[in-house]
Amino acid sequence: MYPYIHDNVRRILKEIPPEVSIVAAAKTRTHDEIMAAVEAGIQRIGENYIQEAATAYDAIGGCVKWHFIGHLQLNKVKKAVEIFDLIETVDSLELAEVIDRQAAVSNKIMPVLIEVNIGRETQKNGVMPEALSELAEAIDTLPNLQLRGLMTMGPYVPAEQLRPYFAETRRLFDQMQQAKLVRTDIRYLSMGMSDSYRVAIEEGANLVRLGTAIFGPRR
Ligand SMILES: *Cc1c(COP(=O)(O)O)cnc(C)c1O
Repeated sequence: MYPYIHDNVRRILKEIPPEVSIVAAAKTRTHDEIMAAVEAGIQRIGENYIQEAATAYDAIGGCVKWHFIGHLQLNKVKKAVEIFDLIETVDSLELAEVIDRQAAVSNKIMPVLIEVNIGRETQKNGVMPEALSELAEAIDTLPNLQLRGLMTMGPYVPAEQLRPYFAETRRLFDQMQQAKLVRTDIRYLSMGMSDSYRVAIEEGANLVRLGTAIFGPRR
């Protein structure tokens, strides 16, 4: 029904290295569009909104991994812990603690990424780079969370100008892998979107979040 979605996914899967996974950013897309991407080989779906994720999850289910990539409100944590395999956007100890308590209730170890505000933009979510190691150490003590890496958006600039921000995030990621954290398994570096994923991969991303490149322009 959506041959262009199929073609886009096949082309991008061929283009990127095998160790890089695509997270299909599904906001505003119909379940049929998402299914077309899954049938073409997408194994991870990224959702920004809990309600949208809940209906998509009901329609598509556990044959794919579900990533939360939006800003998580404290009152939506319960549903998020139920649905998602990875919450990419933890950026405060308060949020981490709420997720930890909910994960305990749901009897789940919740994998999370820390979102870094690598451009230090006041209007953006994410922890400031200089506060990252303190947050990582705090999360490492929470028994029902498992820290798996970093996510960043970067400033809204052309892809080539994002390169230094991606490189800096990669350095923070390497530092985190070398830090003496005990319960973590630092593997995922989520950066790059439709306009910038090639640059992000060159700078070390192994998760890229693609919406437009898969589904076309958002309506
Ligand atoms: C929408 C979205 C994307 C994908 O954006 P595109 O430019 O359409 O590829 C990636 N990450 C996040 C957090 C998003 O909200």
